[in-house]
Amino acid sequence: MRIFIDPGHGGTNPGAIGIGGIREADINLDVSLRLGELLAANGYDIEYSHTGDETVSLAERASRANNFGADYFVSIHCNSNPDPDIGGTETFYYREGITAQRFAETVNDALVAEINLRNIGTFARNLAVLRLTNMPAILVELAFVTNPTEAALLSMPSFRQDCAVGIANGIIDFTS
Ligand SMILES: [Zn+2]
Repeated sequence: MRIFIDPGHGGTNPGAIGIGGIREADINLDVSLRLGELLAANGYDIEYSHTGDETVSLAERASRANNFGADYFVSIHCNSNPDPDIGGTETFYYREGITAQRFAETVNDALVAEINLRNIGTFARNLAVLRLTNMPAILVELAFVTNPTEAALLSMPSFRQDCAVGIANGIIDFTS
C-alpha cells in the first residue's frame, strides 16, 4: 500500500503565519514526517512531495504522487482565520460521492478522537492537489495557527505527534 504525504507549503511559501510567529509550513512538515514514520512502521510504502523546507508547485506535488503510483494522497495543512476564536479540525476532498469523501471522514474522525479539538467536519473543495491527483486524495487542516489555544498546542512536539497518530489511525482503519 502506497501513501503519498504532502506537507503543505514550504520554501518561499511559509503558509499561514500564526500567533507567536509560528509558520504553517514548519508544522505541516514536522507532522508529515512523523506520519510517514508511523505508517512505514506499519508496513506502508511512503513518498513525500518534499522532506525539507522546499518550494514545490501544486501541480508538481500531484504529478509526483501520480508518478509514485500512490494508493492514497494526504496533504497536511494548518488553518487560519482573522477571528482568533475560530478553532477546530476539518478535512477536504474533491467532490461528493467519491471514495475520498469516506476517506476524509474516517481520517478526520480519527484525528479528532486523538487531539480532541472541535470537529468542524469534512467538505468538498476544488483544490489543485485534490483535483490533479488520480487516487483518493484528502487535505487535512489540523488546527488553527491563529487561535491562541491551538497555536500553543501546535508549537508542542507532543501535540504534533498526536496529530500524526490520529491521522495514521484513520489511514490504517480505512485501508485495512
Ligand atoms: Zn495551508
